[in-house]
Amino acid sequence: MPIVTRFAPSPSGELHLGHAFSALFAAGEAAKGGGRFLVRIEDIDTSRCRDVYVAGLLEDLAWLGLSWEQPVRRQSDHWDDYGAALSRLDRMGLLYPCFCTRADIAREIAQAGGAPQGPDGPRYPGLCRSLSVAEREDRIAAGQPYALRIDMDKAMAMAGPLTWTDRREGVIRATPDLFGDVVLARKDVPASYHLAVTVDDALQDVTLVTRGRDLFAATHIHRLLQALLELPVPEWHHHRLLTDASGRRLAKRDRATSLSSLRRSGLGPDDVRAMIGPC
Ligand code: GLU
Repeated sequence: MPIVTRFAPSPSGELHLGHAFSALFAAGEAAKGGGRFLVRIEDIDTSRCRDVYVAGLLEDLAWLGLSWEQPVRRQSDHWDDYGAALSRLDRMGLLYPCFCTRADIAREIAQAGGAPQGPDGPRYPGLCRSLSVAEREDRIAAGQPYALRIDMDKAMAMAGPLTWTDRREGVIRATPDLFGDVVLARKDVPASYHLAVTVDDALQDVTLVTRGRDLFAATHIHRLLQALLELPVPEWHHHRLLTDASGRRLAKRDRATSLSSLRRSGLGPDDVRAMIGPC
């Protein structure tokens, strides 16, 4: 099967050297196997994503010397695909509406004297998991905004034990319960990162998911969703993260390493390759 990789940036800022590393790495892995390289725009966070960053990042990638297949998938054009996955999980009895605000969750955790820590912060204490059907219906009818969370214990029991393979780390036992009942559809948009990325990688026939080490734990959730939705299972390669001189991970706020500023300062793609080192 030909290898298919993707680079999937969120257009909420300019690309920096870390993104260049990630994009070159993904393209390089596809090229090695005579495979296909895709670019996907992950813009479900409509409050933070901007068209100007989409245009800028495509320009940066072309400047780096990359080419990718057309058309470029843009997540905000595909709400129906995420809706279909949510409906399926809902029919399986795995989702529940969560009306909690951040303040409700913080108050509950404080009252309980803490909550187990997950990779993204304290785990959701489950306030809305036990609401009655009638109460859920009343609150929805009253127009209260809600997110959809997965009932993690139930989902894991349904899926059974799972593993996934990272090319650097080998076979990993999936432990999505680390995260608790994660949100699969946000209050403001009818999807979440975990849902959209899993659905898209399957719809786009991605066979090797390459991304930074910071997203390693998220793969536990993606593997669970693949099992529940009967999606094909790719391999993963979570690559090293670039850091600045003080050892801090590069971030969009660090203007100095943005590809457009490096370009404006007269550097070329070969200089960028030299700065990021071997992919
Ligand atoms: N859109 C994510 C980001 O920019 C990457 C998602 C992924 O590669 O799975 O951090």
